[in-house]
Amino acid sequence: MNKKVIGIIGSVIALILGFLGFEITQQPGLLGDNTEESSTVTVVSESGDVPTHINNTLISHYIDVGQGDSEFIELPDGKTLLIDAGERTASETVISYIKSLGYTKIDFVVGTHPHSDHIGGLADVIKTFDIGQIYMPNATSTSKTYEYLLNTISNKKKKIKTAKAGVKITSSTEPAYSVDILAPVNKDYDDLNNYSAVVRIKYKNRSFLYMGDAETLSEKEMMNKNTDLTADVVKVGHHGSYSSSSDKFVKSTGAKYAIFSLGKDNDYGHPHDQVVKRWQKYNAEMFRTDECGTITIYSDGDSLNVHLEKSQSSQQNAA
Ligand SMILES: [Zn+2]
Repeated sequence: MNKKVIGIIGSVIALILGFLGFEITQQPGLLGDNTEESSTVTVVSESGDVPTHINNTLISHYIDVGQGDSEFIELPDGKTLLIDAGERTASETVISYIKSLGYTKIDFVVGTHPHSDHIGGLADVIKTFDIGQIYMPNATSTSKTYEYLLNTISNKKKKIKTAKAGVKITSSTEPAYSVDILAPVNKDYDDLNNYSAVVRIKYKNRSFLYMGDAETLSEKEMMNKNTDLTADVVKVGHHGSYSSSSDKFVKSTGAKYAIFSLGKDNDYGHPHDQVVKRWQKYNAEMFRTDECGTITIYSDGDSLNVHLEKSQSSQQNAA
């Protein structure tokens, strides 16, 4: 066949596919023109058991704590990391979730910043479990919640390590993974949110980013330092507030999945419309804890799989 005939046949096929409403761009795997992605399978399941204790697998649980943040991460070598634990009223939710997975020890705890929707539940968690290292930024607060946490930590004879850019929480060569703190970059901020410890986990070809409530100022500081912010999965900063997720930052992550941790009908109007549109603009698929319940994303360092507690149908309609 000459080129002209092939061209005509190609156009006809494209026309027919277009007529049938095929969304070619959303199914690169089917066309076989995106070989780097062809080995990865993404499964979104809404039923079955929560994935846990899978060998050589990174499992990130975005626990539904209402308006707040809490992520429990099973690292590829079986160690565990907890980032935040929601409000104090959510501590029982976090404790029973971690227990239900069969853990009695948390190797690493990160309290991103002293706001109660992040560290409120941490004291009760720290009382309950065998705790390894604790990381918090060098920020101060006079709130009762924060004081209770500090007292609990000192009663347990634990020390707080400073969470700041450049700190490596842990790493391993086999399986090859690392957990790094990317922010705060500086020492003084007007807003507590910008003290947020930002954590990035890299496992083989995949990476996960946890933003706490870091705002655009912190995003900018990380970008100015040429910090590697690429991530397949991003826990969106500040519950989807417009204070965070600048256009440049969202673009630089190249995220496939954006996770919003928030409460239904919250007082702040989270997530803000312009933020949702921005993640959409850069083709991130979004999951919200207020609609999906607890979200679990797991990876063997290559594949990416999603498990949702509840159906996401309402969320897709909203998007
Ligand atoms: Zn918050």
